Amino acid sequence: HAKSKGAGSYAIFDDQLRERAMQKLQVTSALRDALNNREFELHYQPIVDATTERTATYEALLRWRHKGMLRTPGYFIEVAESSDIIIEIGAWAINSACEQLARFWQETADRPAVSVNLSARQLRDESFVDVVAAALAKNELPPSALWLELTETALIDDHDVALTILNSLSSMGVTICLDDFGIGYSALSNLNKYPIDIVKIDKSFIATLGSDSTQNAKDRVLVNSIEAMSNALGLVTVAEGVESTDQRQQVRNIGCRYAQGWLYGLPQPRFAPAATTESIDDLTH
Ligand code: C2E
Ligand code: MG
Ligand code: MG
Ligand code: MG
Repeated sequence: HAKSKGAGSYAIFDDQLRERAMQKLQVTSALRDALNNREFELHYQPIVDATTERTATYEALLRWRHKGMLRTPGYFIEVAESSDIIIEIGAWAINSACEQLARFWQETADRPAVSVNLSARQLRDESFVDVVAAALAKNELPPSALWLELTETALIDDHDVALTILNSLSSMGVTICLDDFGIGYSALSNLNKYPIDIVKIDKSFIATLGSDSTQNAKDRVLVNSIEAMSNALGLVTVAEGVESTDQRQQVRNIGCRYAQGWLYGLPQPRFAPAATTESIDDLTH
């Protein structure tokens, strides 16, 4: 009857919880091994000036080379972000990105920046500011060489310490980007409360821009509004996920300062400047 059924389902629930906890423990320990064995890599995707298509910045995207496969963050980042191991992975990413950028600067006359993604836990301890300052100093890079990307999710906890950290980084001269803007736990007040320089408009809004549909028209209203609001607040935008020449045109019309997406370049293991999309047009015509 009901009572024993209830007890039974608790037992199943317990088993599932235990199994999930075990899995998480296994992945966490695999991530620790990955750090020790240097299995993480950063791949770099160009963020271009939407008008000139010159590469302004390379976004560092974490990859895990594991058991013969190259894993993207979808496979492991949630577990990583749920424990303090993300703090170590994050510090490694900042150091590694700065090191590779400094090497790139020695090889070329271009002076692009590098953009590194952050996770909520990295914004809970003020020593993070020292991690950033040390990575810049060690590689003799100016703070303007570094962009940091955080999502609104990283701000929902509303920790005072996150604000303190971001204010320190911002006054140091590091560029702060709000990633995936417009989806999730958006609070417009974040744009004023935190020292944001750049708004990255989530790729889901860009995805429909190129198609001729009602959704296209509606998403264009949203992207236009985000652009207008950002400009009025003294911020600039990046359009994420530009895949087609139609989307490129609309992003230019709307006036986004920067653009990023497969049209300009895929994430690659080295700093590879964006192919000019005019030559992509040539290839496809
Ligand atoms: P994100 O920061 O929003 O990065 C953009 C994601 O969109 C990347 O996926 C990129 O490969 C993908 N992308 C780029 N251009 C296009 C396009 O034209 N179309 C489509 N459909 N997708 C495009 P990826 O590399 O799998 O990274 C996923 C997420 O993982 C990132 O989203 C970021 O939130 C997180 N992540 C990546 N690296 C790190 C890291 O070092 N630390 C932390 N904490 N999170 C990271
Ligand atoms: Mg990002
Ligand atoms: Mg994004
Ligand atoms: Mg994303």
